[in-house]
Amino acid sequence: MNYTVQQIAEITNSQIIGDKNLIVKTIAFDSRIIYSTKNAAFIAINTQKNSGEKFIEAAIDRGITIIISEHQFPQFENVTWIIVENAIDFLQKLAKYHFENSNLQSIGITGSNGKTILKEWLYQCLWNEFPTVKSPKSFNSQIGLPLSLLQINESHKLGIFEVGISKPNEMQKLENIFHPQIGLLTHIGTAHAANFESEEELIDEKIKLFKDSETVIYNGDNELVGKKIKELYSSKKLISYGFKDHNKVFIKNNISKDENIVVEYFGEEISFPANQRDEATLTNALALITVLKELHIENQKIVEKINALKAVEMRLEAIEGIKNNIVINDSFNLDLDSLKTALQFLNEYNKTKKSLVLTDIVGVNSNSQELYEEVSELVNEQKFDSVFLIGDEISKFSDLFKSKTSTFINTQELIDSKYLTELENQIILLKGARKFEIEKLKDLVELRKHDTVLEVNLNAILHNINYHKSLLKPETKMMAMVKANSYGLGSYEISEFLQHHHIDYLGVAYADEGVELRKKGITTPIVVMNPEQHSYDAIIEYNLEPEIYSFRVLDLFYEAVQKSGYDKKFPIHIKLETGMHRLGFKDFELDQLSETLNERNLKVQSIFSHLSSSDVPEEKEFTLKQLDIFEKNSSYFIEKLGYSPLRHILNSSGITSYTNHQYDMVRIGIGMLGESPSSEIQKQLQSVVSFKTVISQISMVEKGESVGYSRKYKTDHLTKIATIPVGYADGIPRLIGNEIGKVGINKTLAPIVGSICMDMMMLNVDNIPNVKEGDTVTVFNSKPSLKEFAEYCKTITYEVLTSISPRVKRIYIKD
Ligand SMILES: *Cc1c(COP(=O)(O)O)cnc(C)c1O
Repeated sequence: MNYTVQQIAEITNSQIIGDKNLIVKTIAFDSRIIYSTKNAAFIAINTQKNSGEKFIEAAIDRGITIIISEHQFPQFENVTWIIVENAIDFLQKLAKYHFENSNLQSIGITGSNGKTILKEWLYQCLWNEFPTVKSPKSFNSQIGLPLSLLQINESHKLGIFEVGISKPNEMQKLENIFHPQIGLLTHIGTAHAANFESEEELIDEKIKLFKDSETVIYNGDNELVGKKIKELYSSKKLISYGFKDHNKVFIKNNISKDENIVVEYFGEEISFPANQRDEATLTNALALITVLKELHIENQKIVEKINALKAVEMRLEAIEGIKNNIVINDSFNLDLDSLKTALQFLNEYNKTKKSLVLTDIVGVNSNSQELYEEVSELVNEQKFDSVFLIGDEISKFSDLFKSKTSTFINTQELIDSKYLTELENQIILLKGARKFEIEKLKDLVELRKHDTVLEVNLNAILHNINYHKSLLKPETKMMAMVKANSYGLGSYEISEFLQHHHIDYLGVAYADEGVELRKKGITTPIVVMNPEQHSYDAIIEYNLEPEIYSFRVLDLFYEAVQKSGYDKKFPIHIKLETGMHRLGFKDFELDQLSETLNERNLKVQSIFSHLSSSDVPEEKEFTLKQLDIFEKNSSYFIEKLGYSPLRHILNSSGITSYTNHQYDMVRIGIGMLGESPSSEIQKQLQSVVSFKTVISQISMVEKGESVGYSRKYKTDHLTKIATIPVGYADGIPRLIGNEIGKVGINKTLAPIVGSICMDMMMLNVDNIPNVKEGDTVTVFNSKPSLKEFAEYCKTITYEVLTSISPRVKRIYIKD
């Protein structure tokens, strides 16, 4: 888009305070991912859960000077305001105008599953045929769709947008804004059916999107869908696809036997190889082919494009590099859009020094001068310390890059130059087209090289936090417990991520954990649960907040505060004993405690206690008693204190089972890692941790032979045995050897046989089809789950996670 403030106000009927001639090209709605402030406006969107107005200040701090909001905040100076009645209506109005005045061929995708995958696939196949714009990620809602449409500019010829609804009457609103020429309906499932009376009602609602479409392409395997579409839209061009052969486009051959997949398209055959043959993937491929045909792409090109598709889950890996670097590896694919995403991801880290490795963008039809001008603009915004360009094309344009820039003919030349291995304490982004094989660079700068990794999915953490938040009042604060290295997963990486997502507090066990976080740039308040005497100075110096649980600690800590010369009220957290009998003040100590505190230059930031058995349903009565004692003692204490600190008592299972006792804050731990004692809640959570390795060797062991130390396992027939490089030194307890524990290969469980060695163990893989050396082995994640694995170990998930040895490489992934 490209409008003046004046034009925007006219289109949307809004008020202007400030400079009406400013130009707006992008609208940011999340103050943390403001990608560029040039010609950008920030919109404060208030939703049921969150007030966008809270983030106006952050947006202005970042350099935004145009704010779209329902209210003006005069405390901010030199800001131009567009004052709107309702921010969502505003976006929708503007997006409708913008879409209707664009000159774009448009594809609208709706359905229950597969929207995002199909959109990404279509984009991958089409972006180098036509200048194409698409919805970012899964921006498909009442807010996401308008924001997506506003990305259209004059150069775009094709737009691919997804449209999602979850309630009745939502589609009408969206169709009013966006009426695609080609409508694509993916699979209709029960995913969003909750708010609908029947499947029929759901279908009726979804297909309203196609009211003004010329062509409707739909999954015809669902007969009701076919019937409805034919009834309503008989005058349009209708094309159905699916597994069943009544569809116009379907799979003709036996996919479990034949090497290629053969698709019948109106009597034509299109044949291509496919690795993944599950029904969902193939159905999506059918939809893809149908749309590509509709856009007149030749068959041979279609097949080439399908072969080049990457796994859509665009996961950026963040890896610990040598010399304290963080390496962001995205060496799979390179186009403008994925470059933007990667740069955004980079922005979320606090490292001050940044380097970029970037290759030619290959296979584009457009003018390369223009292309690289755009690329360099994006890159220059980020102020990299050094930029390494690989490839003949991009090297021609090296003058466009403002950072210290060097050029290389190929990846090997960069490796040979040794520039990369000299970088220190930086964040390094590797971004390249596949043919340049820049994953070689990853090998070069990666810290540990083991096949065994602990993969931590940050998106799943966010999902789990949001699930717990959805049970709470919007104003309830949340402390994330990142003690013990975030339950073994990596305290800095997780804290950094949580800080980015506005967590209110972090909790660590010892001061040195907090000091390390501060040194790496974490500014969120941090509570130290076990403040040891020798660490008081560090607590004060690094602005950490101690838990005070006894008079002894109170006196010693206060002495340290006085000695330090700290002259404001130092924040502390008072722990009350309510039944756990671990640490804390008892009821008879509260009078003396409040008197002492009132004489001292300390500020009680919060009062809290801890439940011993919130995860044990049989102990409900006891837990309620603890909650009762907390209520009584904390109220009494607050009265004596004369002011009201925050109160908190719930841990993860407390949040789900005793929600009413949330007070001002809750403390989440294992819940954010996706574990709950309740199977109902467990279903709502996503698994965060995946402990993986690969098979080192497979041997056929003759009947009667023995496997491993002390000959604990003897084969009773010719047995296929796999060896994997994980042992008790990695944190796998020896007690799960000898067929007690199992691990997963190709989604099937294989028993551990013989005794577990220090660095290895052996598996019986007789029942695993097609197993081969190099295959991935899941120690735990889904099959077996972390919980099942903990059961083998006769312990709880907490202990499994914190026992995994530091030598196992942690990697962090994010969409
Ligand atoms: C570890 C801890 C928590 C988190 O417990 P989970 O069961 O993992 O949710 C909460 N509060 C305190 C004081 C803790 O030490």
